[in-house]
Amino acid sequence: TKSKSEQLISTTEKFGAHNYHPLPIVIEKAEGSWVTDPEGNRYLDMLSAYSALNQGHRHPKIIQALKDQADAVTLTSRAFHSATLGVWYEKVSKLTGKNMVLPMNTGAEAVETAIKTARRWGYEVKGIEANKAQIIGCNGNFHGRTMGAVSLSSEAEYKRGFGPMLEGFTLIPYGDIDALKEAITPNTAAFIVEPIQGEAGIIIPTEGFLKAAYELCKENNVLFIADEIQTGLSRTGKLFACEWEDVTPDVYILGKALGGGVYPISAVVANDDILGVFNPGSHGSTFGGNPLACAVSIAAIDVLLDEKLTERSLELGDYFKAQLQTIENPVIKEVRGRGLFIGVELHESARPYCEKLAERKLLCKETHDTVIRFAPPLIISKEDLDWALEQIKAVFSE
Ligand code: PLP
Repeated sequence: TKSKSEQLISTTEKFGAHNYHPLPIVIEKAEGSWVTDPEGNRYLDMLSAYSALNQGHRHPKIIQALKDQADAVTLTSRAFHSATLGVWYEKVSKLTGKNMVLPMNTGAEAVETAIKTARRWGYEVKGIEANKAQIIGCNGNFHGRTMGAVSLSSEAEYKRGFGPMLEGFTLIPYGDIDALKEAITPNTAAFIVEPIQGEAGIIIPTEGFLKAAYELCKENNVLFIADEIQTGLSRTGKLFACEWEDVTPDVYILGKALGGGVYPISAVVANDDILGVFNPGSHGSTFGGNPLACAVSIAAIDVLLDEKLTERSLELGDYFKAQLQTIENPVIKEVRGRGLFIGVELHESARPYCEKLAERKLLCKETHDTVIRFAPPLIISKEDLDWALEQIKAVFSE
């Protein structure tokens, strides 16, 4: 007879569209850094839902905020004001140092919103001729799965069968400042970049690239848009990964951990000389900035700051990376990362290693075939991290 996990997986596979290839593990319950399957097996979560769970699973303060708000009001739509939206705006404004916030729900929606922001800013503020605006992105980027985001992608599989693509995007090699210089024209509205490419395999740009790119954007009146959906909110040992090069982007795109892994919320954040291009009727979302999302996000931001998760990420990340670098195995090509955002690149497929780690009750996922991404919740204890290291060392000495 089939186990409960096997039954649940077969129902899922039978009725669901097959746009994912998950490891055969069912998570039924979770707390902090640990998850439990229906058979009672406990696993250490080293993926954190692609960095949406920086605060850990079901952080008590975030869950309390969710419950309290659920008892008051969950949805108003933007046809009316709510008691939470303004409070959350102010919180995000203080966190980023920008004075205007536009709420959405998912990362891809926020990227879409940033594209619209850049285009409208290009026409109304920069003075680009109608319908000529260009946005420059980077090869290997990941900005989500909407038509705008996949049009911006360099990955053939993200686009196959979905054409026609959106126009107005130019791609340059990630980290190539000369290519950026060449790509900028008077019609360039924005440069959009992940300060570390997550899905591409934890790729850190060449040193100085972000800073130089920012300066080039300033010289040419081009918006520097940082997609910090995965790298932001303490993941890389800084509040925002752009801080690694002392860059303050013109526009932040935030998501994932902004909702503490409890409720989806995303945002585009910038000053009013940029986000001021929106007027009533130009953009919106039924659920964007809803009271439940805002209450959860306020608590999620408080947890980041109160529990000093940025500092934890930096300290534990340095330790973890140094330990990983001591593993001697010719299959390992490189260990790289910042904070608790670490990639172990192999000379072969990473999937079998993730499967072996799962057998040892450590959950992680390969990205782009040959890279194992380790991104545990930032609340992870040193003991749990040491336990993880034991499992990883064991797998690499088999
Ligand atoms: N941008 C980046 C850098 C991401 O890592 C992701 C998700 O992995 C997205 C955008 C898309 O976010 P979502 O899956 O919430 O649409």
